[in-house]
This record gives sequence, structure tokens and C-alpha cells, in this order.
Amino acid sequence: MKKLAIDGGCKTRIEPFPRHTTIGEEEKKAILEVLENEKLSDFLGTWGNKFYGGEQVRLLEKEWSDKFGVKHAIAVNSATSGLYCAVGATKVEPGDEIIVSPYTMSASATAPLVYNAIPVFADIESDYFCLDANSIEEKITSKTKAIIVVDIFGHPYDSEKINEIAKRNNLIVIEDAAQAPGAMYGEKYAGTLGDIGVFSLNYHKHIHCGEGGIVVTDNDELADRIRLIRNHGESVVENMEFENIENIMGFNYRMTEIEAAIARQQLKKLDDLLKKRLSNVAYLNKQLSKFPFLELPKIRELAKHAFYVHAIKYRDGIIDMNRDEFVEALREELTYFEGRESEGVKVGGGYVKPLYLLPMYVNTICYGKNHYPFCLKEGYSDMYYRGLAPVTELMHYKTLITNEFMIPSMKKEDIDDVISAIQKIYDIKCIKR
Ligand SMILES: *Cc1c(COP(=O)(O)O)cnc(C)c1O
Repeated sequence: MKKLAIDGGCKTRIEPFPRHTTIGEEEKKAILEVLENEKLSDFLGTWGNKFYGGEQVRLLEKEWSDKFGVKHAIAVNSATSGLYCAVGATKVEPGDEIIVSPYTMSASATAPLVYNAIPVFADIESDYFCLDANSIEEKITSKTKAIIVVDIFGHPYDSEKINEIAKRNNLIVIEDAAQAPGAMYGEKYAGTLGDIGVFSLNYHKHIHCGEGGIVVTDNDELADRIRLIRNHGESVVENMEFENIENIMGFNYRMTEIEAAIARQQLKKLDDLLKKRLSNVAYLNKQLSKFPFLELPKIRELAKHAFYVHAIKYRDGIIDMNRDEFVEALREELTYFEGRESEGVKVGGGYVKPLYLLPMYVNTICYGKNHYPFCLKEGYSDMYYRGLAPVTELMHYKTLITNEFMIPSMKKEDIDDVISAIQKIYDIKCIKR
């Protein structure tokens, strides 16, 4: 009988999976044009035309708002900066609370802390892994100002229920759509489902310009506030005659012209890249459906998933391994993506550690060492603990498997190798049929 690679047998695949790149001649040409006219940035941190940035930045913003059907698109240097702008724009006060997801990239939960507001973690849905509307309501207090929802793995959040809760409680919804460009709910794009949406253009997202982000909103006042926070607002408001200056101390979150020029080309490629990704997902799902120990991704009714990550669930008791043993065995059977050797095989148990278990939260140490701003909340020292979000912990520690076997560079034959590896493990380790 064949032996698993993890037990000293041969790997199913030795050849690296194909390199994934979205950068081509179009981007190179666009960069050269910017270099030739030598305007690498055209922002000024004072009131006037240049407060809004250079030609490429403005064209990108125009094209982005047209594509996503939203009034304002504001380019920034990362989605992290974009989330910080978004939180500042809500007029949040120090000590106010913002409800966040525990299962996401860390910045979607740290954004409140930048304004001395307090992240309050709710739990996630066991089907879609987005913030669970039912877990939000019990977290709302008189101090709650906003909800940061995340379209995690590319799946749009439960906008019907959560927007309704927000409306009823007078809360602003910030949608972190970093992983979901092109995802939809009904006729609307993810990123435009809440009051403010944030996209990422960092180098491992669907489309990218190295580092970058776009904030979108239909609200004029929020848009002004976001632009001021992006670009040294404190020295702009007077001449701009902008009132209500709370949280308007600005940063430099400006995007360069080269990044914007690249992002404009990338935006044109989004639909095709997404199509390829979704067709790979369809093929992968079809092949995976023969393994009873793996549960395929579910998609909310009316939603279109952008599949930044392919997330499946592991059913115990069907093969003689737990999730982590299975993932380890699968990793041993396979190989890395060319160009991303150091990241290893792109499959893992869980996603990121539940955020409230990071040292900053467990110890409530953020600004200085005296628990600021957490100490603005009564009972803060018991706020973040193991067991806080049971669904998140179950998914992370026992059930969820995340992979990238459906990225656009993968061909059918490559996916077939993944399936062969799983079949090999199943044949050797199956307990019941
Ligand atoms: C990538 C990511 C971010 C941060 O994006 P940057 O552009 O790298 O700052 C935020 N939230 C989520 C969910 C992400 O995946």
C-alpha cells in the first residue's frame, strides 16, 4: 500500500504550483509614463486644488467610483490607513465602543484604538465566517458608535440584518471589503453595502499596486472628513472653512502617482481575474464534493463570493486524523507556489488567531503601559478572554481549513494534484465508508 509523505512516502506533487502574477506590460507602461513626467506625487497638505492629489490618483478615484457605483472613492496608501480614516470620520469619542469581528486581519479591529475608542468583539457566523448579526445586539451599549463588518474571505457580510440593527441603534457601518473586490449582495458591490467601505490594494489581494487602499462612501460629509484625515487636515480646515473639526488631525495616507497608475491598470483586470478564480472554485468544489469529511463553502442567498480565500470545514470521525493532522499530511503531499516559496503550501488549519487573544488585548496594553484607552471602559480587565467568541474558537482551533488552491494561476491539472493528494490520504486513513 502507498505511504503518506508524512510517513516517509513519496509526495503527490513535487513541482511548484504556477506563479501567480497580475502585473504585465500595461502596468510597466503606466509606470514609465509617470516617471517620464516626473510627477511622482502631486499632493499638498494645504487647502487648494492639490489637496486632492495628482492626476493618476484622481483618475483612479473616478474609475473606482464608476466601477463600484459609489459617489466618493478616496485613494489611500493602505486599507489599514483607510480603516483609520473611516473610524476617525465617524466622530467617535475616546471611550466610545466599536463592535468588530475577531476573525479578520488585525487592522480591522485595531482601527478604533487609533482614536482611543474600544474594540468590542462579537462572534462570527459558522456558515460564512462574517460577523454574526445575532451576536452583535447584546454587545451594543450607550457608548457604541459603529460596527466594523468584514467581508471575510471575499464573502459579503449580512448587510440586511446588520444594517437594520445599525439603523435602529444609530450606528455607522464600516465595511472592510479588503478581501472582496467584485463580491456582491444583490445588485450592490461589497464595499458599498455599509456607510463607508474600505478596499485593499496590497500585493496579495485580488488586484494590487504594491501597497494601497480605497475608501468609498456615498456620504459627502464622511468623504470630506476622510480626505482631511488622509492629508494633514489640521492645516487645511481653516482655509477650507470646514467646521466640526473633531478627529481631523491628519496623517499622511496619500497614494503616490505610480501606485495609482498601476492600480488603474489593475482595476481593468479585476473582472477577468475574478472570473478565473470563480471557475477554479467551481472545479475545486466539484472535485472536493466526493470527500465526506470536507464541507464545501456556503454562500449566502443573493450573494456573490469573491473567494480571496477558499474556506472549507473539516468533519471529524470520518478519517482517522483530526483536522490539524490532515492539514499537515496534505501539506507534506504538496508543494509551494512558485515565487512564494517562503510561505510554504498554501493550506492551513484555521485562519488568524482570534484577535482578542493577541497580547495587546489580553493584557489591555495599547498606548503606554497603563491600559489606555481600554481603561476608559468599566470592567475592561475582563474584556478579552479565551471563550469570548465560541464559534470563532471552534472554527479556528478545530474546524476551518483555509487554502488558496483556486487562485487564477492554477490550472485544472494543478487542482487535480491537490485532489489526488486528498484522495491518497482518504484511501489510507478512511475509517468508515
Ligand atoms: C489585507 C487586509 C487589510 C489590510 O490591508 P492593507 O492594505 O494591507 O493595509 C484589512 N482587512 C482585511 C480583512 C484584509 O484582508
